[in-house]
Amino acid sequence: MNTTLRDTETYPVLKLHIDGEWIETGERRTFDVLNPATGAVIAHLPLVDKADLDRALEAADKGFKIWRKSTPEDRAAVLTGAAQRLRARADTIARNATLEEGKTFAETRLEVMVTANLFEFYAGEAKRTYGRVLVRPEGARSIVVKEPVGPVAAFAPWNFPIANPGRKLGAPIAAGCSVILKPAEEAPASAMAVVEALVEAGLPAGVCQLVFGVPDEVSTHLLASPILRKVSFTGSTVVGKHLMKLAADNALRTTMELGGHAPVIVFDDCDFDRTVDMLTTAKIRNAGQVCVSPTRFYVQEGIYDRFVKAMTDRLAAIKIGSGLDPDVQMGPMANARRPEAIEALLAEATGQGAEIRTGGARIGNEGFFFQPTLLTHMSNDMRIMNEEPFGPVVSTLPFRDFDEVVEQANRLPFGLAAYAFTENGRQANRIGAALEAGMVGINATVMAAPDSPFQGVKHSGHGAEDGPEGVEACLVSKVIHQL
Ligand code: NAD
Repeated sequence: MNTTLRDTETYPVLKLHIDGEWIETGERRTFDVLNPATGAVIAHLPLVDKADLDRALEAADKGFKIWRKSTPEDRAAVLTGAAQRLRARADTIARNATLEEGKTFAETRLEVMVTANLFEFYAGEAKRTYGRVLVRPEGARSIVVKEPVGPVAAFAPWNFPIANPGRKLGAPIAAGCSVILKPAEEAPASAMAVVEALVEAGLPAGVCQLVFGVPDEVSTHLLASPILRKVSFTGSTVVGKHLMKLAADNALRTTMELGGHAPVIVFDDCDFDRTVDMLTTAKIRNAGQVCVSPTRFYVQEGIYDRFVKAMTDRLAAIKIGSGLDPDVQMGPMANARRPEAIEALLAEATGQGAEIRTGGARIGNEGFFFQPTLLTHMSNDMRIMNEEPFGPVVSTLPFRDFDEVVEQANRLPFGLAAYAFTENGRQANRIGAALEAGMVGINATVMAAPDSPFQGVKHSGHGAEDGPEGVEACLVSKVIHQL
């Protein structure tokens, strides 16, 4: 990273992208983009009006008619070309993402690479959307073919400003769909960089539109359109349910990546130091603003006190500051809402008997920093034990045996990620089977890979992103019976 640059020197002029055209603010309303490390305004983002959205819909209709006729090789070439451009610009994209979202440069740079890897995987998948032929008597046959579902409206949140737009675009483009992407207004330059890479790699006008706006205005307008066939959303369960209702009125297919409240089960036969190190790193990632963040820590009685002490020591030693400082391990929270929400959750929990072993407060008056926090003496009636904290907070509880902890882990309506740490192979198998989650980490904390489905169950959503499943979610099957 070039640390001699002034912070905002590489930050681009923010634009919309509709029907192949990059559009500047003009007379439109704007949104102030902030640097979460300082709270200062770094740019003004143009917001769409209804006429822009209608134009985006028309363009998506036109773009779908073009892109559905493209060959798998055409689609693979665009995705591969975009991946190369992302890698070549990784430092600049990552710096801008850190400026607008707050997480460390190491994290945003990794996100660029992860997005490039995903595009390359999807380039391969574009060529593997096979159908099948069912042979009937006397030469008759039934042919099953896969077709793109149609124009997709996609809504991406701010917490993975590069990878979330990458996920929302990669699969529909591989499948032959067009997309209207509305990323989070709080982290627009990252999404713009992903769209730019695709456009420069040869994506035809109309296949991908990039819009920003007032979220509910945009989703209400788009989801009512007869042009759309699918909506894909990542964000909170509350908003996801709202969008599912809008989607139902227009019979749209849905992919929903919603909130979690990941249980972590630490058995007393775990590899202790390795477990505490992995969980500390996973917890402070993006200051805990990760849907698969380890959240409810159930630790077996025999090692509970030792675990609390070890994790407290590690969290207290985390270096916090601007994500552009190479020594910093955890940046600020992404926006002013997050420290406020964490403060409220902690105040309620301590009022109900929780004890803070480390952290528990904001840091300084500038930006949106919050200390890594560890809690003991938790009970199930506390709001923080039921609502996703989405911050750097570890809630710990001791447990006695397998059945008791499985019941606690599966207690909530969420089922995104769940984790278990044990060196006992049979116990690892049993816990993997028992946990109600779309993704289970056993002695592992990394939940995403280009070739594996990223998905929730229960109120954490449905439909996968990544893996062959991600492309499948953008395809429909058609059967042609032929005598
Ligand atoms: P929020 O629920 O207001 O927004 C979450 C995301 O949804 C944002 O990107 C927002 O722009 C978008 N959104 C909100 N209303 C929308 C609408 N009507 N139509 C379309 N998009 C809409 O919350 P927030 O303050 O941004 O984040 C707080 C909570 O959201 C967190 O506590 C967490 O539970 C959840 N969240 C989850 C993820 C995830 O990866 N699953 C990511 C970000 C936020």
